[in-house]
Amino acid sequence: MRVGIGYDIHALKAGRRLVLGGVLIPYRQGLAGHSDGDVLYHAIVDAILGAAGEGDIGDFFPDTDLRYQGANSHLFIKKALEILKKKKLKLTHLDSIILAEAPKLSAVKKKIKENVARVLGLELSHVGVKAKTHEGFGAVGKKQAIACQVVVSLEPLKGK
Ligand code: MG
Repeated sequence: MRVGIGYDIHALKAGRRLVLGGVLIPYRQGLAGHSDGDVLYHAIVDAILGAAGEGDIGDFFPDTDLRYQGANSHLFIKKALEILKKKKLKLTHLDSIILAEAPKLSAVKKKIKENVARVLGLELSHVGVKAKTHEGFGAVGKKQAIACQVVVSLEPLKGK
């Protein structure tokens, strides 16, 4: 079995859409970034790449590359899954923590989990999406940013 860890943080900014795990969340601010700023997707991609022994999201999608300006981060997930397929690896489990002081995510947590399970082809019982505040500490606690932590496990595809 292989495991991978991913982390990301993006600043909250007015005039941006807030997208977490591919789900559009109504809020007065969104996440800044070269792409759509989906921190959960970015942390998932890094966790998958790490478990596959394939570097990080910046190696594949540099933020200096104009092609990825405003990009839907689903593109990055698709690329990570392609790499798994090529390496004959299979995603078996994902757990995640979204660290956000605001907005409150309890009402959308389930929707995010369902979407993450769908895009990764995992059963709901193999996806964890937890939301926590930062108790007022640091940039997340001051509502200036949202961060995510992700772990994944991979197994070799059977019957190769
Ligand atoms: Mg990012």
